[in-house]
Amino acid sequence: TPLVQLDGLRKSYNLGRPNEVEVLHGLALQVRRGEFVALIGPSGSGKSTLLNVLGLLEPPTAGSYRLLGEETAGLDDTTLTRLRGQALGFVFQFHHLLPAFTALENVTLPMLMRDGRIAPAAEARARELLGAIGLGEALHKKPGELSGGMQQRVAMARALASRPPLVLADEPTGNLDRHSADEVFALMRRLHEELGTAFLVVTHDPSIAARCDRVIELVDGRIVSDRPQAKT
Ligand code: ADP
Ligand code: ADP
Repeated sequence: TPLVQLDGLRKSYNLGRPNEVEVLHGLALQVRRGEFVALIGPSGSGKSTLLNVLGLLEPPTAGSYRLLGEETAGLDDTTLTRLRGQALGFVFQFHHLLPAFTALENVTLPMLMRDGRIAPAAEARARELLGAIGLGEALHKKPGELSGGMQQRVAMARALASRPPLVLADEPTGNLDRHSADEVFALMRRLHEELGTAFLVVTHDPSIAARCDRVIELVDGRIVSDRPQAKT
């Protein structure tokens, strides 16, 4: 089964009747385990909306979205939250780390929120993950004491701590200078290789898109191209 399968997926925003605006016009898409996909397209083409639907944050208006083989239409909030926790990690343009908590706490807090406790094995995994990505010395530092690139690496560790099969990343390097952006992207590729995690990365940066294995282009709410890309 594909990780993600969309069939005839539509999304409209209701701006007050009768102003219903359709933003995604019947998308068909599959993402398989271990893929590394870029999602590109002009501003306003629907990339964020698609990411919100894929992230189970916004319900589709019509069509089918299967995640890990499970049809998501009609699921209640508890089930959606469970499925989100099991299937997905999120990375955003702005890292959304909690400023009052250390790097380690930021990575383990989602587990605490989800499970009501932090299992010792989970904390060990968080420490190991942070160590593996070069933040072993920064475990007990707060986001304000870290560079932008380091903050984004902590956010990456947080997204991957629960070992989700798919990470949805919205402009993960959009707020970084060239050097930090390349570093964070290299880290994503490395985690992809080592953990087998699939990534779907929204990016405006052509040099980032060029380093993904598959590029999907959205224009005006339609997929206008979807092509594999040789590794460079
Ligand atoms: P980007 O191009 O980086 O995705 P946008 O400016 O298109 O950023 O959108 C930023 C956020 O604002 C998105 O989460 C989107 O859902 C929301 N948004 C965009 N347009 C509207 C709108 N007309 N009304 C309400 N929310 C919007
Ligand atoms: P992108 O991420 O590619 O810039 P978005 O998904 O943010 O595109 O936006 C696609 C279209 O949907 C835009 O016309 C935007 O104004 C509209 N839109 C996005 N979010 C909302 C919202 N919450 N309410 C109304 N319109 C929205």
